Amino acid sequence: MLKHKKLTSKNGITIPKDLREDVGLDAGMAVDIESRNGEIVIKKHTPICKFCKSIQGVKNIMGIEICPECAGKLLKAVEEKYGA
Ligand SMILES: [Zn+2]
Repeated sequence: MLKHKKLTSKNGITIPKDLREDVGLDAGMAVDIESRNGEIVIKKHTPICKFCKSIQGVKNIMGIEICPECAGKLLKAVEEKYGA
């Protein structure tokens, strides 16, 4: 559905309710934004592992998006550094 909107003075934009509902976006949800072939694409945020860039099973731990494999490696490294 094509919508015409103006950017605010701070370059912001409100995504119309019907478009948000179409894709299941609610206030406060993270989004990914990228330019693609001269267009700006906004979509629900896909969690990506900070360390290996995997998207499989990624969870947010203390603000860090991390996959199970890297979480295991990190846990082992922490245990070695701090003793556990
Ligand atoms: Zn990872």
